Order: sequence, then C-alpha cells, then structure tokens
Amino acid sequence: MQPPLIDPFARAISYLRISVTDRCDFRCAYCMTEHMTFLPKADLLTLEELDRLCSAFITMGVEKLRITGGEPLVRKGILTFFEAMARHLQSGALKELTLTTNGSQLRKYARDLAAVGVKRINVSVDTLDDAKFAEITRWGRLSQVLDGIAAAKEAGLQVKINAVALKGFNESELFRLTEWCARDGHDLTFIEVMPMGDMGEAQRLDQYWPLKELRAELATRFTLVDLPDRTGGPARYVRLAETGQRIGFITPLTHNFCESCNRVRLTCTGELYMCLGQEDVADLRAPLRASADDTALHQAIRAAIARKPKGHDFDYSRQAVKGQMTRHMSHTGG
Ligand code: SAM
Repeated sequence: MQPPLIDPFARAISYLRISVTDRCDFRCAYCMTEHMTFLPKADLLTLEELDRLCSAFITMGVEKLRITGGEPLVRKGILTFFEAMARHLQSGALKELTLTTNGSQLRKYARDLAAVGVKRINVSVDTLDDAKFAEITRWGRLSQVLDGIAAAKEAGLQVKINAVALKGFNESELFRLTEWCARDGHDLTFIEVMPMGDMGEAQRLDQYWPLKELRAELATRFTLVDLPDRTGGPARYVRLAETGQRIGFITPLTHNFCESCNRVRLTCTGELYMCLGQEDVADLRAPLRASADDTALHQAIRAAIARKPKGHDFDYSRQAVKGQMTRHMSHTGG
C-alpha cells in the first residue's frame, strides 16, 4: 500500500469516478448532440490501462469506484474490467464497485455484474412515458430499460433511479416517478440540469426546474424528513415518512459540499479532474504509457491531488460545450 491521498485541505480522496467510454447508445438531449463525433479509439485508455490506473488509486486509499460514461455497458469487453476489479473487492481494499448506466444493457450484464461483487447500481430514467422517453433519449426505448431494471433486481442488485428534473417535461410525473420507485423499492434522486447537450439556451432556461421548487411540490403530498446522509458529493437526502423511501437532490451548481469533497473524476482518455466546477486537469495517460512501472504514474497522481482546489467555481458559460458531460465527467449519481 502507498500513503493515502490527502489533498492540501486535509480531505482524503476515497472516491474515484471513471468514464470508461465517451460512446453511448442513447442521445439524451440535455447531454449529447444527436450527431456526436466520438474520440478516436487510440485516445481511449485500454481496459488494461484502466485497470492499472484504478489499481494505482486503490493502493493510495480509494475505496469506492463508480464506472460511468458515455454508457459504460456499451464499452466492448467491459465485463473483463469489472472482473479484474473484483480482486480489489476480495482483498478488502475496495469497499464498493458500482456503476451508473442508462439500463439498456442490463438484461445482458446484470447477473455477471452481481457475480463480480457489484451490489448497487444507478439507472437513469427521466420519464415513465414511452413517447417522452423516446423523445428525450432520441434513441432509447423505455421497455428495454425497464426490462433491464427487472433483470438487475432478479440478480439481486439494488437499483437507484436518477432523474434529471426538467420543467414542462417530467414535472407532471413527479408523483408517478416517486410512487413507482416506492412500489418497486428503488431510491430516487433528482438532478438539476446542467448546461450541456444541444438544447438551445432558450429551451434550457425554459426547462430549468430548480430542485427547491421540486422539493416544495413533493412536500404538498409527502412529509419530507431531512437525512444527515452525506456522500461527500452534491447530493442531499430526505426520507418520505409515508413511503419510507429515500429521495436525493443533486444540485451540481450549488457550492455547498466542497468542504467534504472526497472525489476526483477520470475521463476515458486518462484526464483527471480534481474538481467538478473547475477546468484544471491532469493528464495521467502520458505517465501511464511512458513506463510499465507505476512510479511516474503515482507521482503524477500525487501532483494532481496536490492541486485539488478548495472549492467550486462553476462558470456556466465555460461549461456550455457540446458533449461536455460525456467527454469529461458525470458528476451525478452519475
Ligand atoms: N449513460 C449512463 C447513464 O445514462 O446514466 C452514464 C453517463 S450519464 C452522463 C450520467 C448521468 O448524468 C445520468 O443520470 C444523466 O441523466 C446525467 N446527465 C447527463 N447530462 C446532464 C445534464 N446536462 N444535467 C444534469 N445531469 C445530466
């Protein structure tokens, strides 16, 4: 084991979120443009490189890995990577291996994911209406995702649903989504929309649904009990007294969680983002490819963590880059 990763503000880095591909089988309007240009394959980290990088972080104290994308389950051979990470679960160094997925491939993968030690997954579902689902995802089919969720449950995986809050889109489904999750035993997290994809600015502002408003709407029907749960990220939680379910609210643009930030994000090309709201990035692919020995890689990781800023400085205009989410990060449950 290496000495743990502690940043200059005494925060231990224990959570790594990794995008394993920029590709996706959906084209959610708020996330991607319909005609995306994806990165050349040679730019992506290979599965072996992802293994080396994740293992390096684990030897330095990372205890939780969240695999995301793009859509992580469309990456060819991705199960090999999950299988490789299982050795860290078995050794006890890794406490949690999880993923955020759109659910389309879960019928194929759920059982294998459970077998390698994945216990909980996040599945993104913004609407329970077939036509609206097709509209927002452009290429997705709701029935396939619901079948994927059923497969996950059959495999014993705990499913949390992530829904991006969009005024005038799923506003009318607030209670339907909540009740569906209560009935099927899913936790549910709402995410405030961030400026990406190819929604026009006018449409984006039109669809901006502050979670404060969503929360107030929820409180007209349920008793919301604040929970002290903190994950080191931008989520806040309540329990609905009537159903017992946990509801999360993710407000990525709110600067209220930096002091407890325990996480960094790695892109599929090996760029490490030390903060969700800042552009500073460290290239880990070069030291990784420069040598089969991990010394330079360890040094590069430590140098990056030494630059982790104290807090968020979210610049709305800078982030309004097409395809930003899928290239660089997924900040959410995601
Ligand atoms: N493909 C996977 C999925 O659908 O969950 C993983 C990647 S996706 C980028 C991760 C999460 O980010 C999803 O829950 C998605 O809804 C959310 N997301 C994407 N674009 C967003 C945006 N502009 N604002 C807020 N959340 C967004």
